[in-house]
Amino acid sequence: MISAREALALLRGGNDRFVADIRSHDALPSRARRVELTTGQEPFATVLGCSDSRVPVEIVFDQGLGDLFVIRVAGNIVAPSQVGSVEFAAEQFGTRLVVVLGHSDCGAIEATLEQLKRPKENQSRNLRAIVDMVRPSVESLLATDLRHDVPALIRESVRANIRASANHLRHGSEIIEQLIRNDGLLVVGAEYSLKTGIVDFFDGVPED
Ligand SMILES: [Zn+2]
Repeated sequence: MISAREALALLRGGNDRFVADIRSHDALPSRARRVELTTGQEPFATVLGCSDSRVPVEIVFDQGLGDLFVIRVAGNIVAPSQVGSVEFAAEQFGTRLVVVLGHSDCGAIEATLEQLKRPKENQSRNLRAIVDMVRPSVESLLATDLRHDVPALIRESVRANIRASANHLRHGSEIIEQLIRNDGLLVVGAEYSLKTGIVDFFDGVPED
């Protein structure tokens, strides 16, 4: 089993390669690797990312088949099915690192801010379910001076939403709390920059 710290180092290394335009040979899909994985999987990290087409998790971390257990949903929100997915990976495969990966200029955050400023009556119930999950972390920022600076407001809202999702996961269930307490499970928050390709792990990262 790979520890959370080792897993974090692997993700950082992979993102460094991605930023430098280098692809590792191991990350390339191959028939041999596919066949090898038919007998089981041991993903070394779970990543809860946004569905945004510009942030494909395996690619930005330069990882291949069988490496990552990925959950993607618009706005990287945490609903019961996301908590269940994290529990599943931790219990079935011993995955010890969980990363909430948000990104700059996230459309789900922008839609939530828009909805808070100019509520749309006819917004679909399903889309509203996502907006309602994002809302608490951005609502308080809208009450500050940040509301006069939209780019800064979006930037801070993205980070607040990542922190909220990571926190929600840390306390999302008795099982996860126990894994954190007794088995070295670590939940960290990170932001991907669309412009630079760099993933900044900024929340819950242990000091060396
Ligand atoms: Zn997004």
